Amino acid sequence: MSAQRCIHTKRNGQPCGGFALAGSRFCFAHDPQQATKRDEARRRGGKAGRVLTLSAADTSVRSLGDVVTLIEDTINDVRNGRMDSRTANTIGYLANISIKAIEQSELEVRLEALEAVLEPERGEAVSWRRGA
Ligand SMILES: [Zn+2]
Repeated sequence: MSAQRCIHTKRNGQPCGGFALAGSRFCFAHDPQQATKRDEARRRGGKAGRVLTLSAADTSVRSLGDVVTLIEDTINDVRNGRMDSRTANTIGYLANISIKAIEQSELEVRLEALEAVLEPERGEAVSWRRGA
């Protein structure tokens, strides 16, 4: 049996490249005859993701350590089939936003500390210039 490639063309014009199913010119994702099975798989995947999301304890994402833990848990959940990739993608996206927000707030704290040190000097410079 030769490993034929799926003949489906993606929206970007590139060929799908997935392996065609036996006796089909399409892969599982693109074979019109697999639509019902696909829907079932999607429903199962979606349900698995929902159940996990709802039953999992609330996770804190206030520190970089929290976010790293969340990403670590998500990677393991996906690898062990406990979470669907769509949920994992969403978590990855939100984790990225959290990291940026944490970095931003840390930067603000450091900037404020820096300004607190520089402020008296700046005040002196202003009064010195006024006096001149
Ligand atoms: Zn395909």
